[in-house]
Amino acid sequence: MLIPGLSGREGRVRRRLAAEMAGLGLAATTDRLGNLIATADGDPDRPSVMLFAHMDQLGFVVRKIERTGLLRLERLGGVPERALAAQELLIALGEGRDIPAIVGNKSHHATSPEERHRVVPYQEILVDAGFPSADAALAAGVKIGSPVVYAPRAFTLAEDRIAGTSVDDRAGCAVVAEVARLLAPVRERPTIHFVFSTQEEYNLRGAMPAAQALKPDIAIQLDLMLATDTPDMQARGDLALGEGPAMSLYSFHGRGTLNGTIPHPTLVSLFERAAEQTGLSLQRSAQVGVLTDSSYVQLVHHGVAAIDLGFPCRYTHSAREVCDLSDLVGLSALLVAGLSSIEADFSLDRDDYPE
Ligand SMILES: [Zn+2]
Repeated sequence: MLIPGLSGREGRVRRRLAAEMAGLGLAATTDRLGNLIATADGDPDRPSVMLFAHMDQLGFVVRKIERTGLLRLERLGGVPERALAAQELLIALGEGRDIPAIVGNKSHHATSPEERHRVVPYQEILVDAGFPSADAALAAGVKIGSPVVYAPRAFTLAEDRIAGTSVDDRAGCAVVAEVARLLAPVRERPTIHFVFSTQEEYNLRGAMPAAQALKPDIAIQLDLMLATDTPDMQARGDLALGEGPAMSLYSFHGRGTLNGTIPHPTLVSLFERAAEQTGLSLQRSAQVGVLTDSSYVQLVHHGVAAIDLGFPCRYTHSAREVCDLSDLVGLSALLVAGLSSIEADFSLDRDDYPE
């Protein structure tokens, strides 16, 4: 969470995760789009699995440097404009060269009653990094196109809850790495491709070239699921922080995208059984308005049996997202149980699951 990695600029996160994989004895490669892939070979008779989470985070790109030295930003990904005022940002120029900045908020003393309750659209927002002029900004290395993220933060709240930036989806990355660690000594298991994917917050398709190259039989994607345990979310579902990992039974995004994931029935029952065997409670999610790159990954090759698993998360896409560490521990345990019970006769034939 403390490593900046805007979509398309995930290098620092990727290097950290490659080192994590190397520590487990897993060599990782990077494809041209930026996906990091580490394969743990297993029994070739069992269906192969791609387990993935995205490394990138949403943010901004510098659109214009004003003569005054203030910056205007273009947004990259689903940035919630009403949570932007007075936020801390980081212009992520590179290790040792990053520049802190803030979102300027009009002085309250000069704010009219109408302005007080209006959300300022990002096009009007001015970002202040302290530069007195455009030349000063340019001299510091800021250019049109420079990446900007929320100032990276990570801290704990009560009850093992963690808060900060890019819980979406560094929490998922952490679980992928943890599953790789837990499965390292397990011999009886399928081949598993651990993939840390790129550009999910940008166009949801970054994981596609990895899936096209690996041709997995099964794809399991890990990301947040909308927690609905705050009063403003209650009507949306039944997903609470600290109540265990979650499985998506339906996702769809209509706004310009028209895609989603209806999980393969074999995988739904696989993880229901795994939860039962391990005594974990498995929460269920069905939501319109959310989407992950599994919806594109499932469409490659002959079709890939896909499912979204995840963890409840509050305040999504804001600079302070919250999740519960126990849900991540539970998700890791669920995956280890589920993946090691995929045998050679594990059927992906839909007709074996009469509806
Ligand atoms: Zn995500």
